Amino acid sequence: MERIDGHTILIGLLATPIRHSMSPTMHNNAFAMLGLNYAYLAFEVGQKELPSAVQAIRTLDMRGANISMPNKQAILPLLDDLAPAAKLAGAVNTVVNDHGKLTGYTTDGIGFMQALAAENIDLRGEKMVLAGAGGAGTPIAIQAALDGVKEIVIVNRATDPQGSQAQKNVKIINEQTNAHARFVPLADQAQFKAELADATIYCDATGVGMKPLADQSLITDPSWLREDLIVYDTVYAPRTTKLMTIAQAAGVRHVFNGLGMMLYQGAEAFQLWTGQAMPVQAIADLLF
Ligand code: NAD
Repeated sequence: MERIDGHTILIGLLATPIRHSMSPTMHNNAFAMLGLNYAYLAFEVGQKELPSAVQAIRTLDMRGANISMPNKQAILPLLDDLAPAAKLAGAVNTVVNDHGKLTGYTTDGIGFMQALAAENIDLRGEKMVLAGAGGAGTPIAIQAALDGVKEIVIVNRATDPQGSQAQKNVKIINEQTNAHARFVPLADQAQFKAELADATIYCDATGVGMKPLADQSLITDPSWLREDLIVYDTVYAPRTTKLMTIAQAAGVRHVFNGLGMMLYQGAEAFQLWTGQAMPVQAIADLLF
C-alpha cells in the first residue's frame, strides 16, 4: 500500500473473463520487489468495451496494458503501431503507451523461447514440430521463425478454424522469414509420427491436456518420442499433463509444462513497460 501515491503509473489487463489471472499478482509483486511506482489492475473488457478502454489508456496516460481473450486480434486497428512479431502473428498481448503513441507487441512467443533459453536450450537451426495454431501456437510459430528455428512443422485439425490459421502461419513464415514451414493435418498420423523422428522439439500448443480435455494427449504412443526429443506442453494446469506423463514414460529427458512460457511472457511485457528486468526467479518462487 505504501507504494501507491499520486505518482503511481497504471497498467491494465483488458480481457474477459479475467478474475482468475495470475498476471496482477506477478506484476504487482515484481513492482514491489524493485520499488517501482506502478500498479497493475485487471479490467473486465470485452470487444464491445475495447475501443473506449483503449481510449482510456491514452486519456489516463496509462503506461500500457496486457490484452487477452477475446481482444487479442480486435485491438489491432485501435493501435498506432505494431512490433514485427505482432504484425506477422496478427495478434497483440501487450500494449506500450509512449506519450500517446500505442504500440502492440506479442510476448507469448518470446516467453516460449525465453523459457527454453533459461534451460540452456537453443533452437537456432533446429526442427520444431508444433501442434496448434491458435492464441498460443501462432505467436510461438512466428517467434520461433524470427529467432532462427530452421524448420517448423505445424500440425492441426484441418477442420478447426485454427486449421486455416495454421496454413496462413505456414505461408507467412515461408514468405516473410528465413524459416521453412509446412502444414500437416492431424488426421495424417503417419506423417505426424514421421516428422517427430528427426525433430529437436515437439511443442503442444493446443487446448488438449487441460480441462475439459485433461485426460487426453495428441500423442498416445510413447514410441513416437525419443529420449533426446524436447517435449514442451504450453498447458500449466494441470502441472503434469497427459502428454508429459507419456513423455516421461518414454524416457524423454527434457519435459516442460507452460509455466516458464507464462512467466517469461510476463517478464518481457514488464521490461517493455518499465525498462527493467523482472526478478523472474523470485516471482517463480512466489507464484509456483
Ligand atoms: P485457441 O482456442 O486459440 O486454440 C486452440 C488450439 O487447440 C487450436 O489449434 C485447435 O485446433 C486445437 N484443438 C482444440 N481442441 C482440440 C482437439 N480436441 N484435438 C486437437 N486439437 C485441438 O487456444 P490458445 O489460446 O491457443 O490456447 C491453447 C493452449 O495453450 C491452452 O491449453 C492454454 O492453456 C495454453 N496457453 C498457455 C500459455 C502460457 O503462457 N503457458 C499462454 C497461452 C495459452
